[in-house]
Amino acid sequence: MGKPAFLPSQHDHQVCIRQALANAKVVCERNGTRLTAQRQQVLELIWQEHRPIGAYDLLEKMHELGHKAAPPTVYRALEFLQENALIHRIESLNAYTGCNHPEHPHASQFLVCQQCRRVAELECEAISEQLSRQAEAAGFACRQQTVEISGLCAECQRGEHG
Ligand SMILES: [Zn+2]
Ligand SMILES: [Zn+2]
Ligand SMILES: [Zn+2]
Repeated sequence: MGKPAFLPSQHDHQVCIRQALANAKVVCERNGTRLTAQRQQVLELIWQEHRPIGAYDLLEKMHELGHKAAPPTVYRALEFLQENALIHRIESLNAYTGCNHPEHPHASQFLVCQQCRRVAELECEAISEQLSRQAEAAGFACRQQTVEISGLCAECQRGEHG
């Protein structure tokens, strides 16, 4: 926290991608899992932008790149990436986004820009704990929290994305 959740549109995104791949290698090594070429490919495609991408679009991009991946292959790769906490599923968009900090467990809340469709992740433990406490007080056993907030990012508020 303290850092802006959304990076400016004009940033060196290659740095983001390189960092994401480096993180993925560390996490997989620690988990004793293998980032196969295909899994890495899917992760790279997800990291092409800070906009979540759906399974169908991923499949299409794989085909454009000349990979004859069948849908189950892509779904399995997505499952693997989720299990290793390398990506998050954005339920409201039915799409996936890369995680900035897969190397440590964290609470996630997502800001979803309705205009440019970029997504930023908040990692606010206090919100997460408060929600769990309230749910428990209501006699509810939490399994998973999904907090997605839709609105406009700062750039879209300034009209910088059309
Ligand atoms: Zn970036
Ligand atoms: Zn995350
Ligand atoms: Zn926006």
